[in-house]
Amino acid sequence: MVKSNLIELKINKDRIKKNIENLGQIGLSKQGGINRSLASKADIESRNWIKTYWQQNFNISVTTDAAANLWGEYPYSTNKSLKPLIIGSHNDSVPEGGKYDGALGVLLATEAFQTMVEKQIKLKHPLKLISLTGEEPNPYQISTLGSKIISGVVDKKYLAKFKNIETGEPLATAIDRLGGNFKNLESARWLDNDFTAFIECHIEQGRRLFDSGDPVAVVKKITGIYRELVVIDGEANHAGTTDLFHRKDALLSLSWLNVKLREYLQSLESNEPVVGTIGFAEIEPNAANIIPGRVRFNVDLRSGDWGLVEEAISYLGKLFTNLEKIGLKVTRNVILNQKPVDLNAKIIQTFSNTIAADSNLNLKVFTSMAGHDAANMAHIGRSGMLFVKSIDGKSHCKEEYSKIEDIEVAGNVLLQTILDLDRELD
Ligand SMILES: [Zn+2]
Repeated sequence: MVKSNLIELKINKDRIKKNIENLGQIGLSKQGGINRSLASKADIESRNWIKTYWQQNFNISVTTDAAANLWGEYPYSTNKSLKPLIIGSHNDSVPEGGKYDGALGVLLATEAFQTMVEKQIKLKHPLKLISLTGEEPNPYQISTLGSKIISGVVDKKYLAKFKNIETGEPLATAIDRLGGNFKNLESARWLDNDFTAFIECHIEQGRRLFDSGDPVAVVKKITGIYRELVVIDGEANHAGTTDLFHRKDALLSLSWLNVKLREYLQSLESNEPVVGTIGFAEIEPNAANIIPGRVRFNVDLRSGDWGLVEEAISYLGKLFTNLEKIGLKVTRNVILNQKPVDLNAKIIQTFSNTIAADSNLNLKVFTSMAGHDAANMAHIGRSGMLFVKSIDGKSHCKEEYSKIEDIEVAGNVLLQTILDLDRELD
């Protein structure tokens, strides 16, 4: 499939299949889910697996930066003065997650790298493998940690206050325990355009590819996410003696709001998906015979079209005003206001050309509805992503699965894209 350098290059399907199985044994629970939360025993074990694999198969030294990201350097680069191409993803997982989220991106990058190492393919640019630290939400309460440090979204002062909510361990200690160096955290920082391109392969985690039957898609942007924490205060009272016309039921208000929001979002027409979720809610006093006096909850709104998110926010405002008119008190706090991030046009084009050149493939280009490290990397340089089909659109669960045939397509598209970017970019 790959014709660059006059050698037909293809990734080794059986080898990556075996690697997915082997890495997927680490942190595997009795229930069949993967548990590799940041700085857990299994996180460390999976890092060791990756490190050993890179060292033994590529005969390279693997380095750990101050943020505990793992790095491996391609041995056949000809111009060390050029800024590197970076390929990889993350090795951690959500609780009871699947074998593919994160790990597949690390292993696809590893496989493309290995295919080139075997043929001693000369690249102009330095090429670096990366396995990023702590991408998923975790008890230290910070996600996409490694890429946030690299891109300067967070710094040492900001991170110093983070602690594991279960064990109390400071994040700084955890980073050091993973081989990082919190004291010297700035050294993990990359400046603007310090790299030529960052490329991450990832499972789609949605069902668009599953429904269309296509194996891969090029990601054009990462969704914007808006989240607020809301408290609605009504009045707690006796569940039997208070008639239905003299109640200020906070939970009923939330239920109404949730249904209205869903109806509204479904009525919006756009090429970009727009979604909203109330995924966290607490009722007070939470007793069978008391009318709920207070609810605390999150509203999460997402779209690649920020205008739609803003429309939904103003609709929410109207709903809250209605609640206030009937005597409820509403307190709102915005906790996340992250606009969509465009991925790099040159990388999108190069991925697209590779896919379009294969008559067996349809070109799909869409927005990622989940956050990714690639969004942080896009703040400082060219950043791109390739999605692989998720069967039934499932992820963050043990049923998460991608077929090896689809993974093979992704590997070959990645490989060709690396070679093309290496040739076409300075
Ligand atoms: Zn992931």
